[in-house]
Amino acid sequence: MEQYETLLAAVAAPAGDGREVFDPATGDLIAAAPADTTAALDDAVARAVAAQPAWAARSDEERRQALHRMADAVERSADALAELLSREQGKPLNGPNARFEVGACATWLRVTADTPLPTEVVVDDGTDYAELHYRPIGVVGVITPWNWPMLIAIWQIAPSLRMGNTVVAKPSEYTTLSGLALLAVLNQELPEGVLNPVAGAGDLGAALVVKPELGKIMFTGSTATGKRIIEASAGNVTRLTLELGGNDAGIVLPDADPVAIAENLFWGAFINTGQTCAALKRLYVHDSVYDAVCLALVEVAKAMPMGVGLDEQNVLGPLQNRMQFGVVDRLVEAAKASGARVLLGGEPDRDQPGNFYPTTLIADIDPQNPLVVEEQFGPALPIVRYSDVEEAIALANAADVGLGASVWSGDRDAARAIAARVQAGTVWINSHGGVHPMIPFGGVKQSGYGLEFGTEGLKSVSAPQVVNG
Ligand code: ADP
Repeated sequence: MEQYETLLAAVAAPAGDGREVFDPATGDLIAAAPADTTAALDDAVARAVAAQPAWAARSDEERRQALHRMADAVERSADALAELLSREQGKPLNGPNARFEVGACATWLRVTADTPLPTEVVVDDGTDYAELHYRPIGVVGVITPWNWPMLIAIWQIAPSLRMGNTVVAKPSEYTTLSGLALLAVLNQELPEGVLNPVAGAGDLGAALVVKPELGKIMFTGSTATGKRIIEASAGNVTRLTLELGGNDAGIVLPDADPVAIAENLFWGAFINTGQTCAALKRLYVHDSVYDAVCLALVEVAKAMPMGVGLDEQNVLGPLQNRMQFGVVDRLVEAAKASGARVLLGGEPDRDQPGNFYPTTLIADIDPQNPLVVEEQFGPALPIVRYSDVEEAIALANAADVGLGASVWSGDRDAARAIAARVQAGTVWINSHGGVHPMIPFGGVKQSGYGLEFGTEGLKSVSAPQVVNG
């Protein structure tokens, strides 16, 4: 098994070089992260282009086995990967956090390896015969964010490689070491040039997405950056899958059981300390159960320890960076200034060395308050009171984004009827945010387009070709 120090040494910049990376829980120096030049980017793209025909020429079975071997490699280095992820990203080892993320990387690799994608016979009527094949696209650019830096990279890389593409992958500049460490582990099982890491910030990402050699870009990040990538893609008609920001709504119906749903509500909102694209970010609760839901949520939230990630007792961590701390702080202050009621938290220590923002629940908040209408991406949940479900649906749909949503009720059919009217790529019932490697995932409106996971995810990184005759 690979040790943490070995893994870190393999990806960190040499002493005196690179950009210093600090632990978001303590402010301690972790190491320096490398930053690639555009010449290094050119080399990475050239390597991907050179390696692609041989990779595509392998049988699907060979590529499937390679994905399984990559999963084995992740499992061999799981402890070291989780430790680095916890130190650099901030998420605790325990709970649905660092170990969970690394474990999910292996699961996603295996399920992606085993997902069938047979050739489809689309017409066979005695007169016409046509088959639909899914061919490799070529080189796929992978650009990832800092909240789930390993798992989101796997979501993009695993189907791309399975379908015979080679990859150039750029981790977020906020979690470069974690991203590079994962790529180094995966590369233990891949031929040279198949998976090519590049390290850098948005400018390097911008230089990558205009490369004519790329056939496809897989991007997860902000809507603002997604729009820039759409513009950049026009030059070469580069295919895109975009998983952008969300401001997921949850609607609690009058017949929901407040105590029974409280823990799922909590994790729906606070998984990864709220730094999750498809987390519950605004909760609409019917007047008849409003006080009971607030009370039950406070009870669950109070019992969830927040602290340094390497400390086993913690299940919530710091915000990954100071910028995000500032966003959450500004939005909660706006809520407080409006007269909304603080049920829990809301008083951060602004002079600490880390980026801890306390678990915060805000009640009796105006539906138009900035904490409700903007994406907080942190541990602060606004709880809006409603009396007419039509009003709750209208408020949920008023956002210009639509990644996930949830409906909470004791009556599954009633919940499904509401779900059909909510504008979101996924609507969960009595839970929020759970993803599964066989269940397609993607957004509507400005949360992006394209589907990931399962058969649909494999199709997204393929060039469909009809063979007619
Ligand atoms: P977030 O801060 O939520 O992660 P960003 O959209 O800022 O969202 O960043 C997501 C990823 O996109 C990062 O890897 C970042 O370096 C990259 N990126 C930022 N700007 C651009 C751009 N103009 N073109 C391509 N990639 C970019």
